[in-house]
Amino acid sequence: MKVAKWYNNKDIRIEEVPTPRPGAAEMLVKVMACGICGSDIVEWYRLPRAPLVQGHEIGAEVVEVGQNVTRFKPGDRVFIAPKVPCMQCDYCRKGHFPVCSVIKERLPGGFAEYVLAPPTLIEHGTYRLPEKFTDDQSTFIEPLACVVRAQRLAEMHQNPAVMVMGCGMSGLLHVKLARANNCSVIATDINPKRLDRAKSLGAGITIDAAADHVVERLLAENGKPADVVILCTSAMSAVEQAWQCVDRGGVVVFFTVPGPEKQVTVPINKFWTREIRIITSYYCGPPDIVDAINLIETGSIIVDDLITHRLPLTDIAKGFQLVMDGSESIKVIIKPNQ
Ligand SMILES: [Zn+2]
Ligand SMILES: [Zn+2]
Repeated sequence: MKVAKWYNNKDIRIEEVPTPRPGAAEMLVKVMACGICGSDIVEWYRLPRAPLVQGHEIGAEVVEVGQNVTRFKPGDRVFIAPKVPCMQCDYCRKGHFPVCSVIKERLPGGFAEYVLAPPTLIEHGTYRLPEKFTDDQSTFIEPLACVVRAQRLAEMHQNPAVMVMGCGMSGLLHVKLARANNCSVIATDINPKRLDRAKSLGAGITIDAAADHVVERLLAENGKPADVVILCTSAMSAVEQAWQCVDRGGVVVFFTVPGPEKQVTVPINKFWTREIRIITSYYCGPPDIVDAINLIETGSIIVDDLITHRLPLTDIAKGFQLVMDGSESIKVIIKPNQ
């Protein structure tokens, strides 16, 4: 079978490897769709494990199951989480699923024609797709679950004003989820096309961070600072703006971080007297995945309008280029079996 092995963003090779055969407790799935995630192009985050086959946003079809696998059968359409928490350790019991390190197995990358699912992931991380769910929609389950988790952790009260900084794929999902929950939304970006899209998805106020003074525009149009500020860009300028855009009693959510070489300075004295919280949100947990599937299935969150490109596996380098460039693309989906 073919896999796309990632050495770095400029060097992705299509390689031929033996198609795995499932052992008694394993299952082989055919990857029908796999999204390129914004985190896939973050080299400082991915390079320590390179070369590797990336791809953790999959829509797949079961083709072969081991004799001990009873929950799934060939023909089932599934989403499989890239890793799963144990649900029993102290971290899991407190809901900190992403930091559980008990289960070491990971799902092999989805930028491949087939993926061999290990037993723990079949048991705890595999979700059968609802009938009308498409393979392409399945690629949004993981990214939306991460967004669900971030807004859950932000503990947003009664119709807050949510400011989303950075309107790439995840920023736009944040806009959609906040709107679905009756929040008013302020969106910022330096790309006018992305801002237009945020506006069409329900952002009431859009601010061009390259051309406008973000804080002044926010205060002029919203009348007050934002209750929740969600950082969906690694730009340091956005972090500085976030500090100034959050209201008393509000929260700044680091959904994206600036990177290990950057130093962030927190105006902690100002925040202390204003009860401003700073939180981080990384990855997602099983309850978030269940919520994400539900939101897509019920149409509460429409994802199809975010798909801009569908490419065969052999064009994956172009796909990464599109995501890195970010001006024309939102969601780029690789279709390894087309
Ligand atoms: Zn992702
Ligand atoms: Zn655990």
